[in-house]
Amino acid sequence: MKKYRIITIIAGIAIILLQSSYILSIYGRFIQDMTLKIDRACKIAIDEEMLNRQLRLNRLMMSFSKEQDDSIYQIIPRVEYIDIDIDNYRELGVFETSSDVYTHSSEDKHFRLNDLMDMLVLDSLFCAKAPLELPHRFRLLDKELQTVDSIGNTHITHINYSKYQPLGLRGFQTLQLDAEIPIGVFVKDEIGPLLQSLLMTLIALFCVLFQLTVIRNKEEELKQRDEATRYIVHDLKTPITTAMTIAETMKALNDDKLLHEAMDYNYNKFNHVLQQVEELKDATSEDGTRYKLQMQQVNVFKIAERVKEECDLLFADKEHSVNIVNSLPEGYEIRANVVMVERAMRNLVENGLKYSDHGVQVDLRLSLTEKNVLIEVQDNGWGIEAKYLKKIFKLYYRIPFEGDYERRGTGVGLTSAKSAVLAHGGKIWVKSKPGIGSVFSFTIPRK
Ligand code: ADP
Repeated sequence: MKKYRIITIIAGIAIILLQSSYILSIYGRFIQDMTLKIDRACKIAIDEEMLNRQLRLNRLMMSFSKEQDDSIYQIIPRVEYIDIDIDNYRELGVFETSSDVYTHSSEDKHFRLNDLMDMLVLDSLFCAKAPLELPHRFRLLDKELQTVDSIGNTHITHINYSKYQPLGLRGFQTLQLDAEIPIGVFVKDEIGPLLQSLLMTLIALFCVLFQLTVIRNKEEELKQRDEATRYIVHDLKTPITTAMTIAETMKALNDDKLLHEAMDYNYNKFNHVLQQVEELKDATSEDGTRYKLQMQQVNVFKIAERVKEECDLLFADKEHSVNIVNSLPEGYEIRANVVMVERAMRNLVENGLKYSDHGVQVDLRLSLTEKNVLIEVQDNGWGIEAKYLKKIFKLYYRIPFEGDYERRGTGVGLTSAKSAVLAHGGKIWVKSKPGIGSVFSFTIPRK
């Protein structure tokens, strides 16, 4: 899959994940807020219901005779000692304050008198205090956690709130409240942020998809342009080679020195254009330079001489010198594709002569390393800023020079040189300093 498609998918997923985590966080806050409110309503309802029964018992006991008093105190001792570890209660989340503990201590007495919690009263108190109308149920559980009594909606399934509240200090009873905080309430309460988030997600996804479509269209356009270029380039080759043949024929038919010079000049110019046309053809060809290389025994020094000769003629108008520094053994040959090695070398020498001022010197050094033939092209021209060093090998890339520094070009030369070198299994690299010059180097494996 293409890189930009992968990046688009990653961006889409990231946007959705970010927005989901935002919605989850506001949902978490909403549930937390609701939980606090329901906790409070439940606590108040239990407290008021217990207080009701206590007051009722007090009133009843005030009207008791001495015998009735005695008999009731046989069931519930007047003073009952129990170890109260408030920290432990707090840790368990059962009671918060010592007054909670005090209130609950009387609940044990009510239990002994079989004066159990009035679930109807509890439920109506809870409904009055609850923050909203919630599907819920209360269950009163005994010591074995079996349901003794219950009230409310017994069929709720999506329980997202549960609270256990022991009644009394001796674990005789526990009250359980289950409730469902409906998602609809959340949506209604948080409609603003939710719509905002949805809108943001849609806008961001739209932008990403729009970019993707633009890139795809551009890619398609480039493909069509490449195809058109290929046709034009193909048609250009015939008139150029014809013009070159005419130049050679005219030279052969005429002895005039001036005409010979003019024909040589023309021949060279046409040859240069032909090379560029070939490079453009390779650069725009669908399978790049992955075609099979025609290998033969190649004398690298001879290629260098040819390149120097051509470049001297091509840059006849510019004060320059091209020096070949040959450290190869005499007559040294490697197996390579002569056209491609020449193309790489010529491109580098031409660039050295092109991106420089009058008086430029280009050294073309040929040497052997353990496994390769090393070709270095050093110039004392304008040099290249570090930020451009990687980009210049990309197809159609040109450093944005202006004014006196502007030179005609296509941005194909270095790409073509690079693919020629890579096709041989070699490497190409550059070192450069602005204002000092550049050294372009490449290797061609010896075997
Ligand atoms: P072109 O020369 O047609 O622009 P190239 O692919 O050969 O395309 O080069 C790409 C760019 O790299 C050039 O536009 C130029 O700015 C820069 N460049 C290449 N060689 C040199 C050099 N020897 N010195 C300075 N700049 C260079």
